[in-house]
Amino acid sequence: MPDLAPFATLRSRAGRSRGSARRYSPPVVTDPVPRPARVRRQYEASDAQHTLELPPAELLQRNAERLRAALEAAQAPGVRRAGQELLDHLADFYRVPSPRLTILGVRPHRVRDGHLESELHGDYTIETGVLRAWMRTAILGKVTSYRGMLNTLLHEFVHHLDVHLFRWPDTPHTRGFYWRVDALYHLALRTPADKRRPLVWIKTGARWRIDWSKLR
Ligand SMILES: [Zn+2]
Repeated sequence: MPDLAPFATLRSRAGRSRGSARRYSPPVVTDPVPRPARVRRQYEASDAQHTLELPPAELLQRNAERLRAALEAAQAPGVRRAGQELLDHLADFYRVPSPRLTILGVRPHRVRDGHLESELHGDYTIETGVLRAWMRTAILGKVTSYRGMLNTLLHEFVHHLDVHLFRWPDTPHTRGFYWRVDALYHLALRTPADKRRPLVWIKTGARWRIDWSKLR
């Protein structure tokens, strides 16, 4: 499933891009609640799963630091090694198979009327367990930010956990899904507890989106 922005990463099954990558705060939007009962049950279970047993902080933070250093060196093989190591440790902790990481160059993107409309940060293929992340920005080809790459890897890893730990093969983007990404992300970044704010959601039609005004 392709994911567009580091926080938002809207899935588009048909390869259709939605959302805008030009915003400073990318929109975090859930998938709409599906109608068929089987997938709806998965969606509701995922949405309600607001807890996640967390791995030892030190190891994750050390992995994240290595990822930061590798991005500074701007070499894809080093970024892949650091990213794979981080994913291996997480997979080990959750006792799931390791996803296989591929690091690619400039993000696939779409330009409309001279503006960057969307860009792909990462994706995860359920069947193969391959997790891909692009390390260079669209248009300028600059190395992606450390936080952006960390968020992409954790977002895709949470899809992997949905499939292998929770047994939700559709791994929908729900409020619970983003909560789980957020928990790992702030643990990796050592965000102090008093600097973390709970995600606040606003309902828009059949979807939820994060109210950034309540977060920043
Ligand atoms: Zn996703």
